[in-house]
Amino acid sequence: MDVKKMYIDGCWVESESKKTRASINPADGSVIAYVTEGDVADARKAIAAAKTSFYVTREWRDMDSQSRGDLVLKIADEIEKEKEEFARIDSMDHGKPLREAECDVDDAIHCFRYYASLIKAPHGGVYEVNEGFGKMHSYTVHEPVGVCAQITPWNYPLLMGVWKLAPAIAAGNSIVFKPSSNCVLSCIKLFEIFEKVGMPKGSVNLVLGAGSTIGNELAENNDVDMITFTGSTEVGQSIMRAAAGNVKKIGLELGGKSPNVIFADADLEGAVEWAMIGIFLNQGEICSAGSRIIIEESIKDKFVKRLAERANAITIGNPLENPDMGPLVSESHMNKVLDYIKKGVEEGATLICGGERYTEGKCANGYFVRPTIFDNCTDDMTIVKEEIFGPVVTVQTFKTEQEAIDMANNTEYGLAGAVFTADGSRALRVIKEIRAGITWINCYNPCFNEAPWGGYKKSGIGRELGVHGLEEYQEIKQININLNPGIVGWYEH
Ligand code: NAD
Repeated sequence: MDVKKMYIDGCWVESESKKTRASINPADGSVIAYVTEGDVADARKAIAAAKTSFYVTREWRDMDSQSRGDLVLKIADEIEKEKEEFARIDSMDHGKPLREAECDVDDAIHCFRYYASLIKAPHGGVYEVNEGFGKMHSYTVHEPVGVCAQITPWNYPLLMGVWKLAPAIAAGNSIVFKPSSNCVLSCIKLFEIFEKVGMPKGSVNLVLGAGSTIGNELAENNDVDMITFTGSTEVGQSIMRAAAGNVKKIGLELGGKSPNVIFADADLEGAVEWAMIGIFLNQGEICSAGSRIIIEESIKDKFVKRLAERANAITIGNPLENPDMGPLVSESHMNKVLDYIKKGVEEGATLICGGERYTEGKCANGYFVRPTIFDNCTDDMTIVKEEIFGPVVTVQTFKTEQEAIDMANNTEYGLAGAVFTADGSRALRVIKEIRAGITWINCYNPCFNEAPWGGYKKSGIGRELGVHGLEEYQEIKQININLNPGIVGWYEH
């Protein structure tokens, strides 16, 4: 098997150390590729290439925004031509059902097209200013930040990369990108497309390797102007500390433990269906997962019974054969999820369904976990407090609206949340009280390229997607013009 390489300064290269890492198919534990394993020295080369591209050759940065937008559109067109292959790679490398991987590729294509159109549209502002210093004209221009390092997790291998790459590229930055070592294959393919469409040398660089070495270097290196990160809160905190040296601009999309609040007047079947999407989509490996169901006491038993019936009917299998759920991303992650399940039982939650590894038939060697529901949970339980990042949901009950709000907010995270009710005023009242950046009423998990995505509290800093997502990768410069050159007379008093 060929060793997959990094893309640095317009060339495909192996790491200096020549070390490699195996990419494992989580459905059966087999090796699907070998990938070069980079180190700090390789990260430094990539940073140097990006620095030269931004500050010396300046080809990408200085390209007019219409031409830059055209090239970004070409990226989208090239991904579209290879849509099936991208989906197959992510499904095999990560474990998500093929149809979910196909949706991710569609979203990735739209994301590039969205930012291509946004960069071609007018931006900046012109301001009416007071005339204390005579007639002045004030306006703003948006400029790229410079060398941007980007680090992503494994749960949406292609899409989490694209949410960062599309706006940063469109804005004219030079980039060093590092995906999670667990799933790198679709991002390698994406960089092949960057090369094919003719992105200038050094403007986009791909490094591969461990977060503790390469990732930390990207956060710490003083030649990096900005670091954006999606991943766990713990690593996000270490990135904040490492980035302090040169006061890098920073963007953090971190973990979550999101409440799904269901009132007794909600459409029960609808709430069950969305709760399933909330927690079992992508095997529950979703930052915004509705992992805490908070439900009005009077309908809890009926709801849990129906949810368990539906969860038990979920098909599990090889993701390429389109079951409802595939395997978790790795053996170690599966074991982490199973440990949480064990803890849930030990701490007194009632296991309603699932709770174990799934090893039937061809799944014997894969990292599958059955959809799991815990009832009778309380705020102090580990499974209610900590992000599990798997197909595990807890159920708690409330009697009053205020109790529901308090329970929803009793978390250090603030990424997402939902409310289900037939009462429109209550829906708006409760959703406004939930301290989270992404919220839904009578649905769970839909997300759009056009709308900003990001968290409150320990779920992050800044926003991706939408206009905000582009502005994160831009500096805003204020330009003030004196329209009456000559003596102001300030010192003539
Ligand atoms: P992780 O924090 O372990 O790793 C994320 C990335 O950081 C990987 O590329 C990893 O190699 C790198 N990394 C690890 N240690 C590092 C260090 N010391 N310095 C720099 N980089 C380092 O997270 P994960 O397990 O890959 O992903 C799961 C987490 O991501 C969950 O907490 C989930 O909620 C979060 N997530 C958040 C969002 C969001 O939009 N808020 C989206 C997806 C995932």
